[in-house]
Amino acid sequence: MNVMRTDCLVIGGGLAGSAYALYAARAGLQVALLSLGGPLEANSGWAQGGIIYDTSPDPELLTRDILEASDGSANPAAVRQLVREGPVAVRELLLDELAVGFDRAADGTLELTREGGHSARRIIHARDRTGHAILAAVAGRVASTPGIERYTGAVAIDLLTLSHNNDNPEDRYAPLTCFGAYALPGGSAEPVAIVARKTVLACGGLGQIFQHSTNHPGIVGHGVAMAYRVGARLIDLEYVQFHPTVFYGKNAPRFLITEALRGEGAVLVNVRGERFMDRVHERGSLAPRDIVSRAIHAELSNSGEPCVYLDLGALDRAALPDRFPTVYERCLEHGVDITRDLIPVVPAAHYSCGGVHTDLEGRTNIRHLGAIGETACTGLHGANRLASTSLLECLTGAKATALADARDIASLEFRLPEPRPWLSPRNEADPTLIHQDLSLVQQTMWNYAGIVRSARRLTRARRILLELREEIQSFYRDCRVTRELVELRNAVQTALLVVHAASLNPRSKGAHYLVDE
Ligand SMILES: Cc1cc2nc3c(=O)[nH]c(=O)nc-3n(C[C@H](O)[C@H](O)[C@H](O)COP(=O)(O)OP(=O)(O)OC[C@H]3O[C@@H](n4cnc5c(N)ncnc54)[C@H](O)[C@@H]3O)c2cc1C
Repeated sequence: MNVMRTDCLVIGGGLAGSAYALYAARAGLQVALLSLGGPLEANSGWAQGGIIYDTSPDPELLTRDILEASDGSANPAAVRQLVREGPVAVRELLLDELAVGFDRAADGTLELTREGGHSARRIIHARDRTGHAILAAVAGRVASTPGIERYTGAVAIDLLTLSHNNDNPEDRYAPLTCFGAYALPGGSAEPVAIVARKTVLACGGLGQIFQHSTNHPGIVGHGVAMAYRVGARLIDLEYVQFHPTVFYGKNAPRFLITEALRGEGAVLVNVRGERFMDRVHERGSLAPRDIVSRAIHAELSNSGEPCVYLDLGALDRAALPDRFPTVYERCLEHGVDITRDLIPVVPAAHYSCGGVHTDLEGRTNIRHLGAIGETACTGLHGANRLASTSLLECLTGAKATALADARDIASLEFRLPEPRPWLSPRNEADPTLIHQDLSLVQQTMWNYAGIVRSARRLTRARRILLELREEIQSFYRDCRVTRELVELRNAVQTALLVVHAASLNPRSKGAHYLVDE
């Protein structure tokens, strides 16, 4: 088996992984950066709304908004770190160094927008392609930075730990310690071992374990599942945020309709044209996402209609194609002209507030294993995330973690062992079975562990998923490993972990809502 060696192995090339690679390489570390697709194929590149920047006149207001959106459950230390260090990282890296093309007013000042749950305009954006603009700039800088080796089309399979991967009794009984991962490089049929002094999970979230999701294909909680298999502490996995406004069309794919539209004055209406959110929350259509998603769910359950609508009547219609080009073009592809029509919308799985537990410098409970971005959970979001905090979290967490790792690694006495060779079965996996099993996971999660949960539904989900996991495990052991097989194995594992967390939490809070509390 081919064995590669590096200082830092970063699994995931979205904003968190790419920014980490940049900061770590500049601190003198060698970095291997893995991603499932190309440099811009990540949820980070799909972010439409923006990134929080301007916290004037009083940063305390942002702290309050994050805590309120989280239903009072966010970790105050993590919130303070974001509010204090986030805007500094945005200014240093994105504005001063990379000169990302955020929208500006005629006088050159940054345009500010707001989204649900925000009490002020503080979000900067590049029309509705903010994530693309940011990730393209950061990925471009990664490409020209010495010390970073980028592997696209690669899938990490499992983490290497002393206890799992070594026959030496001293290592077997040592504290849990990670030393890299097995991965399947793009275009290769044989896994390699990447041995690293530090391994960082930056695999994004888990939206694609649900039938309807805003996430990139393949984002099924790889980081959570790999971390679970080596004994990492996971936390808050029941808090899956559903975005309230995703395009609905009978045969159309789901795609996000940015909340910035509501920030600019769009309102949700039902089929009778009633502004139903005004009955539910003092902020109406701009209430926190969990509240809006549940209100839409209730509206649809009561009416039997397939969707509600976003009414853009209060906006300057003529300006919409320029300010929201992504939404304009994608809706038009499916027969909806946003300069004239209502937009049909439904909620979909969007963001994982929980994940692999870390401290504020990305450390997990496993030595030399870190986690950042959406994979990690510092408690910043508690039970529900405030809009436009996640790109900021990617940047802040990546910087704090990379700088801490550069310090830690310099003083590290750590013998890197030889990994066990990978034993490849020769059978080919049947793609029909993989596709069917993944659909079953997604349907089960949507119907039984989605926006509205009950003890009975969760019990049923658990039963189905446990049986399915058995099937998939034996299938996995018998077949030559492929990206699709890795994805299926991680999807069913992550789904079970979400259901388990939801079953253990008898109280509705934030994004976790039980009808039979
Ligand atoms: C449609 C959409 C709109 C959004 N809008 C906003 C917004 O306006 N503002 C905001 O703040 N947030 C927004 N978010 C949320 C935000 O984009 C994400 O939370 C954030 O980008 C996550 O970044 P990340 O680096 O952690 O993960 P991602 O950007 O998801 O990247 C994950 C990376 O991990 C790789 N990966 C995963 N598993 C493996 C594996 N096993 N092996 C190798 N590589 C792997 C993937 O290929 C990818 O490169 C939005 C999300 C979506 C989906």
